[in-house]
Amino acid sequence: MTSAEDQLEAEATSTPSRNDVGLAFATRAIHHGYDLAGFSNSVQTPVFLTSTYGFESVAANEAAAALGGRLYAREYNPTTEILEKRLANLEGAEAGLVLASGMAAFGTLILSLLSQGDELIVHKTLYSNTLAMVEQGLPQFGIKVVAVDLSNPSNLNGAITDRTRLVFFETPINPLSRILDIAGIAEHAHSRGVKVAVDSTFASPALQRPLELGADIVIHSLTKYINGHGDALGGVILGDAKTLHLLRETGLRYLTGAALSPLSAFLILRGLKTLTLRMARHSASGLAVAQALEAHPAVAWVSYPFLGSHPDHEIARRQMSQGSGMLALGLQTGFEGARRMMDRLKLIIRAVSLGDADSLIYHPASLTRSRKSIRTDAHLPDGVGDDLMRLSVGLEDAADLIADLEQALDGI
Ligand SMILES: *Cc1c(COP(=O)(O)O)cnc(C)c1O
Repeated sequence: MTSAEDQLEAEATSTPSRNDVGLAFATRAIHHGYDLAGFSNSVQTPVFLTSTYGFESVAANEAAAALGGRLYAREYNPTTEILEKRLANLEGAEAGLVLASGMAAFGTLILSLLSQGDELIVHKTLYSNTLAMVEQGLPQFGIKVVAVDLSNPSNLNGAITDRTRLVFFETPINPLSRILDIAGIAEHAHSRGVKVAVDSTFASPALQRPLELGADIVIHSLTKYINGHGDALGGVILGDAKTLHLLRETGLRYLTGAALSPLSAFLILRGLKTLTLRMARHSASGLAVAQALEAHPAVAWVSYPFLGSHPDHEIARRQMSQGSGMLALGLQTGFEGARRMMDRLKLIIRAVSLGDADSLIYHPASLTRSRKSIRTDAHLPDGVGDDLMRLSVGLEDAADLIADLEQALDGI
């Protein structure tokens, strides 16, 4: 073999020299999948800003192609590969594929695994853009979408047909923070030979690992908790090696082409180093804020999975270690009260997105109303009332956040 072939061979089979079997989650979030000896002993992962790779010979070029497209940056980048290995390890998956955004992850998953005539089962409440894709996008391609109430997993029994290819849902659900029973849904789907994919964005692998509960595929918007700093978009699909190979070879290569920028991969690797610490803080503050809101007379209801009053509290305790920083609430004064309260906030920022160091609050009904001027059929997801506000509790001091909310609520 030529030296270039030797090098490719070494790359294809390389594993980290520091064996991290037995290391805890927080340690693996900092080290897994990166061997600094292979990168000039740089302690931080280098960023490879290149769109293509040169080869010593035509034969070496051919060998790289045979290794699964190590030719061009849409399919291969060393920084991105480290992120894929680390996320797969943290989620307990065989392999991972990172993409340009959470929506790119969902699109790549569905367009690679389903064809015209196939059926997709989804839970009836979904993140607004995923809902738009399943209601408007997928039917354009002849994919039938069946919305089911998965809060009772046995509802799957009547919905699965011999064309059903996948069951997809979020838990916790955006924006309601309701919880679905991953193990129960997986059991019903598997008994009919159907795979299950879970969007676990609201929890991150620090709090919930759906594969350990029986799911087959997990997706995340990396834009949210995993990056955690509100400065990059990204998405990931995690699961078995065979499915992930297919998603890379068809989905990423030519169906969506939605590659993650290597610079974003670097930022997300940096964010990931503090994921464990951040989630502990988000969860502690999320609970404290939820309790304070629940005690306020102007508040009609609070949905936070680790409050005793939450309808899915038991399932949440079974499948999540803590509650994260996501909660939903409504006021006695409804839609108008929500708008007034939000305008009075001085610290918490009125913005979409979630999972950042900065606390963010948004009112889906107001944004849906404005979207109607662009799309007349824009509507709130099932189960989301026009009083609902979604609050992403950040990493500020919880007492400051509670004080800001209380001054905005008093006399509302
Ligand atoms: C934000 C979000 C997405 C979409 O991710 P992007 O990175 O914004 O494309 C998907 N699912 C959930 C639950 C989300 O919160």
